[in-house]
Amino acid sequence: MNLSIVGTGYVGLVTGTCLAAAGHRVACVDVRANIVEMINSGRPPIYEAGLELLLSQVIRDAMLTATTDLDSAVANSDVTMLCVGTPTVNSQTDLSQIQLASQSIGGALRKKTAYHVVVVKSTVLPGTTEDLVQPSIENACQRKLGEGWGLCMNPEFLREGQAVEDCRWPDRIVIGVSDDRAAEVMRQLYAGSHCPLVVTTPKTAEMIKYVANSLFATLISFSNEVGNLCASVPGVDAREVWRGVHLDRRLTPMRAEPGKPAEVVHYLWHGLGFGGSCFPKDVAALRGFGKRNGVATGLLDSVLTTNETQPLRMIDLLEKEMDVPNKKVAVLGLAFKPGTDDLRDSPAFPVIRALKKRGAKVVVHDPVAMPLARRHDELSGVDFASDWQDALKEADACCLVTSWSEYKAITPEHCLQFMRQPVILDGRGFFDPTSFTRAGVIWRGIGYTPIV
Ligand code: NAD
Repeated sequence: MNLSIVGTGYVGLVTGTCLAAAGHRVACVDVRANIVEMINSGRPPIYEAGLELLLSQVIRDAMLTATTDLDSAVANSDVTMLCVGTPTVNSQTDLSQIQLASQSIGGALRKKTAYHVVVVKSTVLPGTTEDLVQPSIENACQRKLGEGWGLCMNPEFLREGQAVEDCRWPDRIVIGVSDDRAAEVMRQLYAGSHCPLVVTTPKTAEMIKYVANSLFATLISFSNEVGNLCASVPGVDAREVWRGVHLDRRLTPMRAEPGKPAEVVHYLWHGLGFGGSCFPKDVAALRGFGKRNGVATGLLDSVLTTNETQPLRMIDLLEKEMDVPNKKVAVLGLAFKPGTDDLRDSPAFPVIRALKKRGAKVVVHDPVAMPLARRHDELSGVDFASDWQDALKEADACCLVTSWSEYKAITPEHCLQFMRQPVILDGRGFFDPTSFTRAGVIWRGIGYTPIV
């Protein structure tokens, strides 16, 4: 099929690249000319594991091109996917990118005679596809839905850090379609996928996405509350608790599969809390949606409150070890999770803000997010280390924020060798507490009682 993708950020570029690799011809459209240029030269403007290789292949094979010309991209395609941003501004979902892009797509469809399907991939609240996207397109193209064009809400479930793999091997595909003809086109588009296809209404598809994200966010906040409880009981190890709980077959369905390790722990794990461009904004949006509909969302309120306070537990741990003013504190990891350079709503920021407020000298490092970090407003006044060794040099404490595998190379000996005071605050249960403590490092973890 010929596809156009409007909005080539984390979702649009990964989706476009994977669909091109699956044999579709893809035109990626963005308003930012600089990223269009980068994509055309085979360089992804974002970091995502495996993306650069796949993108360079599909560019070389002429299966994907990028452009700022939305009209011609839509005119020359059968399906247009809307992948623009839906940020939260003042506790409300800002739909201006969706509205503007829908109007532009409608304008392009005006001159088109062949049947076309517009697919909303952006995360939008129930009703948005039918109440905003549909009328915006109808007004601009002067044709009602069903008159030569169809509509589909097809939420995206990829996880940054594993986005390419998730996109190529999804667990399920949800399509909320306006009619049977649009459904047929979507079935053809995803004909090569070997996963369940959920065919439903646009509103239900929109809801599925919010419910999925809110469920995972709830599990994370639940895990953090449990971790905090475990830390208050000497002799209780939260990791053992998770293992004991998670092996229940209702939580670990993979257990039944031969050859799969039984100790798969996914979401039940304590730490600094969730961040990124999706969970915080999507839970807040669903909560706001509930309020507008007169539905109480006490659980979602608590999920967000627990998440907001969780990163500050790292500061509590630090203050128990030292007077913070003028101490050099290394922050390892800035991206909201490993495998991505996305800094949006990363738990690193509340930690760094609190350290700066208390007069610490902050030095930061991230294996891939440093170029973005150097331009980030919130990071003015911090030092940027060239590598983790540089960050640890003469540090009085080190906060491990993102569990990048690169940091597994850090040994207790490195801490003793490089740091002024070997104090490790582990926000992810990342290092082995026993070996660090035995070697003379002061290891403190969120969700753990102090080891003495
Ligand atoms: P993003 O901000 O990285 O990308 C959006 C892109 O759209 C930008 O490059 C922007 O320049 C472009 N754009 C905006 N208006 C445009 C227009 N009129 N024409 C052409 N391009 C335009 O956003 P993202 O992280 O890719 O998220 C996109 C949507 O997908 C959001 O609704 C988000 O909630 C949802 N989503 C994101 C993820 C994720 O992990 N990032 C996962 C699932 C769903």
